[in-house]
Amino acid sequence: AEEMLIRSEKMSVAGQLAAGVVHEIRNPLTSLKGFIDLLQAGIDRNHEYYKIMIEEIEKIETISSELLFISKPLTHNQSYQWIKGMIEDVITLLNTQAKNFDIRINLVCPNDYVVYVDRSQMKQVFINLIKNAIEAMAAPGEITAKVERRQNLCVASVIDEGPGIPPHLIHKVKEPFFTTKKEGTGLGLMITTRIIENHNGLFKILSNKPTGTTFEVHLPYYSPSNITI
Ligand code: ADP
Ligand code: MG
Repeated sequence: AEEMLIRSEKMSVAGQLAAGVVHEIRNPLTSLKGFIDLLQAGIDRNHEYYKIMIEEIEKIETISSELLFISKPLTHNQSYQWIKGMIEDVITLLNTQAKNFDIRINLVCPNDYVVYVDRSQMKQVFINLIKNAIEAMAAPGEITAKVERRQNLCVASVIDEGPGIPPHLIHKVKEPFFTTKKEGTGLGLMITTRIIENHNGLFKILSNKPTGTTFEVHLPYYSPSNITI
């Protein structure tokens, strides 16, 4: 127990440090962006450097926000939650983006299950997974979110009809900053893995190119009869 305590203290120091760095970086970035906007209105507004500078700054902004998210304590806010409503919230949030491509997001959840999670962090997991699914497809089709019980596990899957992940990249996609997207940060699946593991869960990527990708989130199963929510 003592070792655990030391470890969690170290984590929170690292978290504080990261939060501090991000705080220091974010504000100057915001004002820098404002300056560029002003300059752009004055001289040679079409100069391609401006566009590149703005894109780079926007990328750092996104990275900062994503890193800030994982600098928060990871398991302090856990409580018993029904999983169905959590995923429904995420689908509602991402439906506009999906509709831009004529993508339909289905939820297959015949039984609701109780999970022990930090709600905002676990929602972030499903945001990352469904966003990736939309971005991978970028064309009309269906994404299915499925929730089922497998023995002592509650398994939530996100299944897409995109191009799949080639076998030689499967182990790479969870690495920080690995991205194949022009606007990507390569942090989504790293953060997703970290959040799930901090919930004593397991994250699996199944992809069999060219048949799309399935992401599986395995969480401990809790019998609802023993729990009040
Ligand atoms: P980002 O989305 O910013 O690129 P992620 O960590 O979320 O970062 O994903 C890393 C990479 O994994 C993506 O750039 C993409 O190459 C691959 N990937 C993730 N999800 C999918 C998916 N559903 N289908 C195909 N490739 C995917
Ligand atoms: Mg992503």
